[in-house]
Amino acid sequence: MQQFQHYIGGAFSDGAAQFDSYDPATGAVWARMPEARQAEVEAAVRAARNAFRSPVWAGMTASARGKLLHRLADLVAENAPRLAELETRDTGKIIRETSAQIAYVAEYYRYYAGLADKIEGAHLPIDKPDMEVWLRREPVGVVAAVVPWNSQLFLSAVKIGPALAAGCTMVLKASEDGPAPMLEFARIFDQAGFPPGVLNVITGFGADCGAVLTSHPDVDHVAFTGGPETARHVVRNSAENLASTSLELGGKSPFIVFEDADIESAVNAQISGIFAATGQSCVAGSRLVISSQIKDAFLSQLKAKAEAIVIGAPDDMATEVGPLCTQAQRDKAVALCEASVAKGARLVTGGAALDRAGHYVPPTILDCSDAPDAPCLHEEVFGPVLGVVSFDTEAEALRIANDTAFGLASGVFTRDLTRAHRMIRGIRAGIVWVNTYRAVSPIAPFGGHGLSGHGREGGLQAALDYTRTKAVWLRTSDDPIPDPFVMR
Ligand code: NAD
Repeated sequence: MQQFQHYIGGAFSDGAAQFDSYDPATGAVWARMPEARQAEVEAAVRAARNAFRSPVWAGMTASARGKLLHRLADLVAENAPRLAELETRDTGKIIRETSAQIAYVAEYYRYYAGLADKIEGAHLPIDKPDMEVWLRREPVGVVAAVVPWNSQLFLSAVKIGPALAAGCTMVLKASEDGPAPMLEFARIFDQAGFPPGVLNVITGFGADCGAVLTSHPDVDHVAFTGGPETARHVVRNSAENLASTSLELGGKSPFIVFEDADIESAVNAQISGIFAATGQSCVAGSRLVISSQIKDAFLSQLKAKAEAIVIGAPDDMATEVGPLCTQAQRDKAVALCEASVAKGARLVTGGAALDRAGHYVPPTILDCSDAPDAPCLHEEVFGPVLGVVSFDTEAEALRIANDTAFGLASGVFTRDLTRAHRMIRGIRAGIVWVNTYRAVSPIAPFGGHGLSGHGREGGLQAALDYTRTKAVWLRTSDDPIPDPFVMR
């Protein structure tokens, strides 16, 4: 059985304890993972702090940090097929997606490699004639990064890339569900030539590892991706170290289709929006908000496409929907479908776990037009489950779209330009996709409002968020300082 290791201070170790990792496609144990508890978290934070202080990292030019990130990008691109295989094996995310996504993850490292020496300070036109005042941008310090199981290589790249570009160091806690790709990534990172301790990769459970890490007194910033409930713990933990936080949480994103939309495109985008990644995507367009004029025609096309989706083993290139990562996630998805039906939702397709080994839930559509309280319209399922609700007017569409405590993503399908602009203005979400869905790029910031968290990942802003400004005052006069009791 394969044994994975932690990466702390540039060295690999088995960990004082280990736990089993399950293959989501079969439910069988396939690997042993190291489990970090207090002592290992302490060691990892110490390694990150030492690296942060060491002249070799602290004194390294931004351009040199950029070169190391370029080397890392090359290594990720070279090793993408192997990383994709591991992510598929350990999390059940289908190989078609992991292969494409991990190859693109290299572009995130490349983007931040290029950005490293463009994180500029500023000179201020200060209101005193004998002073020069400028702002230095300095790295925040030691970052604790915590990620969930889905797309871990991607979710960690949007933290590691900007944090290292800015000169921070990091302890990254991989999810206890499917940590293999992150632990393997550490081996690739090790080859890039960064000084030891700049990145430390561990895994473990929430209470014994995540909580210890995010409340650690020597952590300066916590970059968290996960669910809102865990985020509340993380924010409470940060009361211990008063670390700044960035929170990338879940969503209940509306996918709004007007009667004038290109229906074929909208159907395909909705299929991708909810069934890609087997619905385990924070930006899943999990609420179809559809014009009542086209609802029946749209749903019948959507149902036909959903039922034609190839469900199968995640490592088969033909598979389009695979298993959910964990049994608990499968049970939660099914329970939310049942609770929605109990509230009056009409099952269009799917709705029950498949009778086979592994954590399979088929593409599911629930028409909730007469069930506004159906939980699938309000709670994040994080599975292949779509709730549908219809509208008669544009104002009603906007009201329904914003009827959520989340605010991560949204989609608007219409050919009417002025209406598109009104919707863009009115929707409360961090991302609005118009006539497309689920497009991402290292150049564009990503993040949400409300229960979807705060802070942005991707783009220049993410790198700036890993810096603090230092205001420097330099007196240019040789005259003696006048009256010491008057503030100047
Ligand atoms: P989760 O919140 O249960 O776990 C996320 C991570 O937090 C895990 O590594 C876990 O070990 C750790 N953790 C648990 N308890 C902790 C504690 N007390 N202190 C510190 N860390 C702790 O999330 P999940 O169920 O694994 O993942 C699914 C969630 O992640 C969904 O809500 C999804 O929408 C969200 N997500 C958001 C984004 C985004 O970018 N907005 C991306 C992917 C996933």
